[in-house]
Amino acid sequence: MSARRLVVVGASLAGLRAVEAARKDGFDGRITLVGAEPHLPYDRPPLSKQFLEESGAGGASPTFRTEEVLRTELGVELLLGTPATSLDTAARTVVVGEQALGYDALVIATGATARRLPGTDGLAGVHTLRTLDDATAVRKALDAGARTVVIGAGFIGAETAAAARKRGLDVVVVEALPTPLVRAVGESMGGALASLHRRHGTDLRCGLSVTALEGEGRVERVRLSDGSVLDADLVVVGTGAVPATDWLEGSGLTLDNGVVCDEMLHAGAEGVYAAGDVARWHNPVFDRSMRLEHWTSAAEQGALAARNALNPQAARGYATVPYFWSDQYDTRIQFVGVPDADEITVVEGDIERDRLWVALYRAGDRLVGALAVNRPTEIMKYRGLVARHATWVEGLTFARSRVKSRQTAGV
Ligand code: FAD
Repeated sequence: MSARRLVVVGASLAGLRAVEAARKDGFDGRITLVGAEPHLPYDRPPLSKQFLEESGAGGASPTFRTEEVLRTELGVELLLGTPATSLDTAARTVVVGEQALGYDALVIATGATARRLPGTDGLAGVHTLRTLDDATAVRKALDAGARTVVIGAGFIGAETAAAARKRGLDVVVVEALPTPLVRAVGESMGGALASLHRRHGTDLRCGLSVTALEGEGRVERVRLSDGSVLDADLVVVGTGAVPATDWLEGSGLTLDNGVVCDEMLHAGAEGVYAAGDVARWHNPVFDRSMRLEHWTSAAEQGALAARNALNPQAARGYATVPYFWSDQYDTRIQFVGVPDADEITVVEGDIERDRLWVALYRAGDRLVGALAVNRPTEIMKYRGLVARHATWVEGLTFARSRVKSRQTAGV
């Protein structure tokens, strides 16, 4: 390892895993972790789940490590509350405030930024849900009993609605597409998951768009494309996120829906690697370019990007079967693989009747994905099959054997 200075930009999951992996591998040079937010690295998944379900008074902090651990045990210099504003790959410097930080190895882990609704800046009561500050503001509104409108029935929107319903609040979810979660799990399974909302008293309105948010300084009403008007004290915009690459404009790196990397997560310039939600790389498992917004891949890529950046001669590729989970109401939803399929078949349970089911996804003759609802022990088995390029027939045969063995065991 000849690098003496590692700079990691983005102090969240991927950035933290990068510094941890560097130290674990024995790197004893200087590490600087740069973060735009003033907070220590924290975990985002709880923000749309437990964090919102509990009132402001309670709840555990989502922070991963104390400042003491970061500074003393991991020997990390923290530059928090100040974004990096540019990268010069020839001079090997990153500009942060007034400083130009030199690096031998750089990990870009700036994640993604929530899409805002145009024209709503300055209207109080309208929030995205990406950061701890966003979640704190949303939680405060829920504490006050807000009539809540969620725009977008993706995972974050659905989880926010579920948290508000758990508090007994009135919630309307507005989704432009005919069913929720289409991009994540496909149309038929999205339709099946829509019933979760209805069963728990959330008013789900699909195929409609928002035409205006109205109010005097603070949101009071949401107008929809069918002419209906919803009273609202809180609007949560859950319409997706865009990779945080603005600061890299002009750096010479290829930016195209993320920082474009090769299989090693190398971003093209010497010493520069990317990881997490901001990185688009070639995933050999599916032989295609991907950018994931999933916890597991962000953590794994963060660690690998640091290792590869510090020891490029021994660089390894990143290959994965994407995995994410979501908790909504009393239901755990898990998905592995890719959702664009020629066929989706329910192999266990009945989506109309049961609270537990498993569906498999076929593309050509290959098993490419699996969705498990309240079946946490199953999903990683299917992940293994997808990783091994199992055929569709192998997937179905495996599913039948699982169902049979459970029936025999009476579970
Ligand atoms: P991020 O977590 O986005 O962090 C990037 C960091 O970089 C941010 O702190 C940002 O402020 C900082 N930054 C940006 N620009 C700059 C700059 N110029 N200079 C310095 N710092 C900068 N995934 C799942 O698999 N399951 C779930 O249940 C789940 N739930 C989620 C719930 C919520 C509310 C959210 C927001 C995400 C959820 N995810 C979930 C996704 C998962 O949390 C992300 O994939 C993960 O956080 C990505 O980590 P990251 O470090 O790549 O990026």
